Amino acid sequence: YAAKRDKSGVAVYDARLHERGASQLTAVTELRHAIDRGELFLHYQPKALADTGAVCGVEALARWQHPTRGLVRPDEFIPVAEENGLIEPLTRYVIDAALRQCRVWSDAGWEVPVSVNVGAACLLHTEFPGDVADLIKRHGLPARLLTLEITESAIISDPDRAVEVLRGLTELGVRLSIDDFGTGYSSISYLRSMRVHEMKLDRSFVTHMCTDAGDSAIVHALVALARNFGLQAVAEGVEDQDTWTALAEAGCDVVQGYFLSEPLPAEEVVAWLGDRAAAHA
Ligand code: C2E
Ligand code: MG
Ligand code: MG
Ligand code: MG
Repeated sequence: YAAKRDKSGVAVYDARLHERGASQLTAVTELRHAIDRGELFLHYQPKALADTGAVCGVEALARWQHPTRGLVRPDEFIPVAEENGLIEPLTRYVIDAALRQCRVWSDAGWEVPVSVNVGAACLLHTEFPGDVADLIKRHGLPARLLTLEITESAIISDPDRAVEVLRGLTELGVRLSIDDFGTGYSSISYLRSMRVHEMKLDRSFVTHMCTDAGDSAIVHALVALARNFGLQAVAEGVEDQDTWTALAEAGCDVVQGYFLSEPLPAEEVVAWLGDRAAAHA
C-alpha cells in the first residue's frame, strides 16, 4: 500500500491504512519468515538465590532483529504470534535454541538451568509434551535443567485440557513455573490440581515493595501462599539492594531483576558467571 512521505523523506502512513488490516498482515508474514529463517534470538537473564546470592539459572527472553525496524521487543511480537497461530512454532524454536545453548554451557563445565516462556496456546495442545520430550532428547540434557514458565490465562481458558498437558510435562521431569503470578483474572484454586514447582511474583508488585505498603502486603501474602503449596517463590523486577533484602526477609527463595543483571547475550553469560563466581570466592 502507498505511503506518503513527509519533508524528511520518512514514510508516514495514513492512519486508516495503519489500522489492523494491512500492517497486521505484514507483521504476521514477517514474523513467520523470522521464525523460519532464524532471525529470532535469545537473551538470558540470570536468577540468584535470595539468601546466598548464588546463581541458580537463567531465563531465555526472545528478541527479534528486524531488517528495517531494528530490535523488536517481545511485548510487540508475542501477541502477534499468539493471535495468528505462530506461537507454537515460535515456542518450539525458543525451547530448541535455549536447550542448544544450555548444552554449550554444559559442555564448557557450567550447569545452567534455563527457563523458557511458553505461549498460552501450547498448553491446549496435547502433542506439546511429546514435542518437548523430543527436543530434550535431541540435545541430550537432563529434563530437570528445563523450566517452562506458563501464565494463569493459559490455564483459565480450558482448565481440564491445560491440566492434562501440564501433567504430561511434569512426567517428563521438566519444572513448571507460573509467571506473572497474581496479575491474571484467575482463581488460585487451580493450584490444588496442578503440580507446578515455582511461582513467579509479578514485577508490578515487587519493584516498589519497599516504598508501597500495599505492594509489600501482596508480596508477603504471595510468598506465604507459595510456601504453603510447597512452591519455590521467585521475585522478578528486583531493581535495588533494599528490595532484595526485603524479599530475603520475607522468605522469597529466588530473585531476578536489573539489580542482579539485565538479560545478556548468550556469549556474555559465561564471562558474567565467571566474574560472579570470582567475586563470591
Ligand atoms: P516475563 O517472562 O515476565 O519477563 C520479564 C520481563 O521483564 C522481561 O522483558 C525482562 O527483560 C524484564 N525485566 C527483567 N528484570 C527487570 C527489572 O528489574 N525491571 C524491569 N522494569 N523489567 C525487568 P522482555 O524481555 O521485554 O519480555 C517481556 C515479556 O515477553 C516476558 O515477560 C514474556 O511474557 C514475553 N516473552 C519473552 N520472550 C518470550 C518467549 O520466548 N516466548 C513467549 N511466549 N513469551 C516471551
Ligand atoms: Mg517469564
Ligand atoms: Mg514474569
Ligand atoms: Mg511480569
